[in-house]
Amino acid sequence: MRLVLLGGPGSGKGTQADVLKKKYNIAKLSTGDLLRGEITNNTELGKQAKSYMDKGELVPDSVMISILDKKTIEFEAKKQGYILDGFPRTVPQAEALLEMLKKQDVTLTMALLIDVPEHELVRRLSSRWTCKNCSATVGYPDGKPDDAICSQCGGEIYQRDDDKKETIENRMDVYMKNTAPLIGFFRNKGLLESVDGFGSLEQITQRIIMLFTEKDIV
Ligand code: ADP
Ligand code: ZN
Repeated sequence: MRLVLLGGPGSGKGTQADVLKKKYNIAKLSTGDLLRGEITNNTELGKQAKSYMDKGELVPDSVMISILDKKTIEFEAKKQGYILDGFPRTVPQAEALLEMLKKQDVTLTMALLIDVPEHELVRRLSSRWTCKNCSATVGYPDGKPDDAICSQCGGEIYQRDDDKKETIENRMDVYMKNTAPLIGFFRNKGLLESVDGFGSLEQITQRIIMLFTEKDIV
């Protein structure tokens, strides 16, 4: 299975990607995690990406496309299914993705939208904390308790620089302008499916699994 996950920042797609990865034994590529890893390791790519990410802007298409080109070729070489979380994020990236798959003689299984309205995304992002160790996220709408730690691994949690108020607004604008048009893009290609993104993590996972079963996808 080759899957693209779509949804706004805070839609829960990263968390669902982790669950699906385990359940279906496929790889997950989160471009946000990948870029944050490059920043931590202070690589050339990391230095380049940081200036964009801190402002909530997108890393240039050309940079992202060449990363994905390499990664998808590696997945095919290992005959491994995968979920893309955070790519494509612009229409040119989506066009490039379909182009690279065509060159690899394979097809995209579906683009799956986790559908959450904009006002709910803003509410979730402003209360989101992330684990330093495993990248799991948790929401504290009423403020973070002083002794809070990661429920998955016990790691230290922090608020991502781009989850701070000033940046959230910009990220939402960038999402609406650049990424939301992907919904129509994939719909026109007959590749779009969507699930309601309201509810608990388990409920949303259940909806996705039901959809996969209906479509006979494993
Ligand atoms: P979100 O929680 O908003 O989905 P991510 O962790 O996916 O955030 O990405 C964080 C930041 O990394 C983005 O705001 C952007 O600057 C950069 N980034 C990640 N993926 C891409 C991409 N495909 N194209 C351009 N920039 C990207
Ligand atoms: Zn953790």
